[in-house]
Parts: sequence; C-alpha cells; structure tokens
Amino acid sequence: PFDVLVVGGGPAGASAAIYAARKGIRTGIVAERFGGQIMDTKGIENFISVKYTEGPQLAASLEEHVKEYNIDIMNLQRAKRLEKNDNLVHIELENGAVLKSKTVILSTGARWRNIGVPGEEEFKTKGVAYCPHCDGPLFAGKHVAVIGGGNSGIEAAIDLAGVVKHVTVIEFMPELKADQVLQDRLHSLSNVTVITNAQTKEITGTDKVNGLTYIDRATGEEHHIELAGVFVQIGLVPNTDWLEGTVERNRMGEIIVDKRGATNIPGVFAAGDCSDSPYKQIIISMGSGATAALGAFDYLIRN
Ligand code: FAD
Repeated sequence: PFDVLVVGGGPAGASAAIYAARKGIRTGIVAERFGGQIMDTKGIENFISVKYTEGPQLAASLEEHVKEYNIDIMNLQRAKRLEKNDNLVHIELENGAVLKSKTVILSTGARWRNIGVPGEEEFKTKGVAYCPHCDGPLFAGKHVAVIGGGNSGIEAAIDLAGVVKHVTVIEFMPELKADQVLQDRLHSLSNVTVITNAQTKEITGTDKVNGLTYIDRATGEEHHIELAGVFVQIGLVPNTDWLEGTVERNRMGEIIVDKRGATNIPGVFAAGDCSDSPYKQIIISMGSGATAALGAFDYLIRN
C-alpha cells in the first residue's frame, strides 16, 4: 500500500504530494486531469513571487516539480469510491482498480456553477469571469455585471466596485439573497446598480464581451446593457459527490477539515477547494495541501 495517496492533481494535490514525498514515504497521486482548474485559467497575477503566469504554464511547472520526486502519478483516472478497511483506505477508480493507502489526501477541487446561457462558454476568459480576486483588476475603469445576488455575488460586487467603474448586479429572484450587512454595504456604494427579477438571456460580444441581455420577469420585456465583463457568481460546487455517505461534508458539499486538514475518518485528510477552508485560491490551496501532507505524516508516525 501507499503511505500517502493523493486524490486530485491540482495545486492542492501537487503540493500535498511533494510535501509527502519529501518525507521519504511511499506517495501516489491519482488525478482525473493533472493541473485542475488552472488548466482553464489564462492570466494569473496573484501567485505570489510570480508576477505573471498563465494556467497551463503553471500546471506544467507543477507537474515538473512533482516529477522531481519519487511519486507514482496516475493521470486520467477518476476515483469513484472511498472505503476504510482494516486500517487502510481503499480508493476505487472508475476503471475498477482499487488503490490502498495508509492515508489519503482528498484534493478534488471544485467547479464554478455555470449559468448556461449563450455567450458564456464562448467568452470565457474574454470577458466572462468567475473570480473577482483574480480578474477584477482586468476591468479597471470599465463597466461590469455580477450575475447572482447571494453572498458571493454581493461580496464580488462590493469588491469590484472598488476596482472597476460601475457594477450592475443581476438577480433572478425578486430580492437579493445576501446577508443584510452585505446588502447595506452594497447600497452605500454610488457606482452599483441592482436589477432584481431579471433572467439573463445572453452574454453578447464579438471577439470579447460587449454586454448582456436580460428579461424583466415582471413585464417580460427584454433589455440590453453594455459591459466589458460579466462575473458569474451563482455558486462554487465541490467535486465531492463521490464521497456521499463516507467523509463528512457541510451543507455546500465541502469536506469538513480541522486545522491539520484531517476529516472525520482517521487517516483521511482533505485540502484545497474541495474542503471547507474559506477563500478558494491557488496559493491557499497549495498551503492547505502542505498542511494536509504534514498532518498525514504526523498521523503515520503515531499509528
Ligand atoms: P482543482 O484545481 O480544482 O483540482 C482538482 C483536481 O482533482 C484536478 O486534478 C481534477 O481533475 C481532480 N479530480 C476531481 N475529481 C476527481 C475524482 N473523482 N478522481 C480523481 N481526480 C479528481 N486562483 C488564483 O489564485 N488566481 C487566479 O488568477 C485564479 N483564476 C482562476 C480562473 C478560473 C477560470 C478558475 C476556474 C479558477 C481560478 N482560480 C484562481 C482558482 C484556482 O484555480 C483554484 O482555487 C485552485 O485551482 C484550487 O486547487 P485545488 O487543487 O484545490 O483544486
């Protein structure tokens, strides 16, 4: 069996695997797609100490760094079940194989929920964005919209209002769903407009986004707003469905971890965007991957 088996090959998983391998213990990493979300990312400007990089380039560096160590890499393999058996954690893959390990680090990440309207897919990284911390500054001096009036949408709108010229919040329901303190803060800002009861119909553009069409659900009328960017903020979904009935998760499906990355199952750890650690960022997921690996090592030397 492995000493540490990492499930997921994004920033969290790569970091966890390197930290584990550096302890000289038997380490494996199984990933559906090595690199994770950064494979879909263009410019990255907040990976501290690297002023600018692009997702695929960072993913290649991650892989190169992992390959410096004696780590068994199993790419293009999807885990479908976790089971704890005779003190070993069993990870069953879609292809039927079962991997056994004394400890497992879950780092299967998350995905932004898509709104699924015409233009969203076409203009991804060309004006359609999901992460205000990442892409907000690209729209300095411009008009943007935030789709979604929940906590993440309103936090994004407040954040963006300080960076861009004007923010329009588009909410499907008749009222915003965010906490009142956030709504109060939002309403105190002069460069924000809120449109409720609005169904986004299309994100428009040519080579990049130039606006958004929505339907006023009260009147059925169609409206178009001119914009340089659209931030979709209707939820981040952790890739944890396959853990149903095993590892403890919160209401959002995030794996609940303690300060050392440990879950409710002894020997099973989690890190990065699939866990309940707040703020989903590359640098944060790498840090939590390191924490989980050191947590797993600690567990191994005590058991
Ligand atoms: P992920 O990157 O999601 O990796 C998950 C890994 O698990 C992948 O290898 C995946 O294939 C694998 N996996 C999933 N399910 C299974 C399974 N069942 N079995 C096996 N493997 C599985 N952050 C920043 O800091 N700066 C930015 O500029 C930035 N821009 C972004 C732009 C976009 C478009 C997106 C989508 C995200 C951006 N982020 C950015 C967020 C950042 O990418 C994530 O916080 C980070 O990738 C999380 O790392 P992770 O390793 O936890 O998960």
